[in-house]
Amino acid sequence: MIIKRFRAENFRNIEKCDIEFSPGVNLLYGKNAQGKTNVVEGIYYFSRGKSFRGREDKELVRFGEAGFRIKLDFSSGTGDESLEYAMFGKERLRKKNDYKITKITEMIGSFKAVLFYPDDLGLVKDGPEERRGFLNVAAAACYSPYIRYYSDYKKALENRNCILKMLQKGLPIDPRELESWSDSVAEYASHIFVFRNDYIKKLEVYAKKVLSDISDGKEELNLEYESDISLGITERSAVKSEYERILSENLDREMAAGVTLFGPHREDIEIKINGKSARSFASQGQQRSIVLALKLAEGEVIKEICGEYPVFLFDDVLSELDSERRRYILSGSEGKQIIITSC
Ligand code: ATP
Ligand code: MG
Repeated sequence: MIIKRFRAENFRNIEKCDIEFSPGVNLLYGKNAQGKTNVVEGIYYFSRGKSFRGREDKELVRFGEAGFRIKLDFSSGTGDESLEYAMFGKERLRKKNDYKITKITEMIGSFKAVLFYPDDLGLVKDGPEERRGFLNVAAAACYSPYIRYYSDYKKALENRNCILKMLQKGLPIDPRELESWSDSVAEYASHIFVFRNDYIKKLEVYAKKVLSDISDGKEELNLEYESDISLGITERSAVKSEYERILSENLDREMAAGVTLFGPHREDIEIKINGKSARSFASQGQQRSIVLALKLAEGEVIKEICGEYPVFLFDDVLSELDSERRRYILSGSEGKQIIITSC
């Protein structure tokens, strides 16, 4: 996948820009606060369907303006493609290959990118929600139904939690209502589990190799999916039964808590370096290497599943790496487009 051109108007501090990119390594350099990360943010918007920083689209509008427009031209295995997004007040305009589309979900999935930016260093040391966020974005890029299952799961979970709250307060509830939401939660959770389990196994293979390469074979990486479900259970219907069993066996605890205590929203990935928890023991340099390994591996898994590399966006992280690691990234850049920003 190769970005050919990125255009923006009134996006963040960018009044207007029109940038052409080359295959291979591209360097965006400039002074602090010139707008380099803003360009990366605009490009990556098309990969996730939202900004990777800030929660609302209106934050992206240039101060004093009424709206913004961004457009990306790229080529993939299926040919030349374009995506466009604009917002003016409450209006939203989305186009794919110059045809209007209505749903954001029609936009996501065609442009694939892997982003690595300084906050990603939290992936190793921060709480599980950081790693779940990484996992959701990465798995969604590989398995097209993932996002739908995940959003259905969250809706069902919210409803189930509402009922648990009512039970906690002693309000009368038809038991069939809880049963029905438990069934939906277990159903969606089982799909998510199967995707995550498969994804983490694939990711581990590549990430292990990168870390070993950049540490001269001294460091071994292991990724373990931390789920309430035993990882040996791979059949989807068996996973669902297992979730149902866990939910029903722990109903008293969940009623007392007024919230669902088990499932994908509580899962994590345990990252181990040389057999020990990276969260507790990895040094700063090791954390950087681990995140680099995860990001490069994320790209390899996309290539394995989708048949081509995503675009790699490295925002302000190369300067943090030593020259050997930089060389490693650049020597492995064949067949990849990499966009690097730097001061
Ligand atoms: P650095 O090298 O420090 O990372 P950068 O070139 O990546 O700098 P950006 O993060 O892209 O800089 O931000 C450039 C400027 O855009 C910042 O000064 C920021 O305040 C400004 N900015 C952010 N949002 C908006 C907005 N909605 N309207 C106008 N300016 C904005
Ligand atoms: Mg920046």
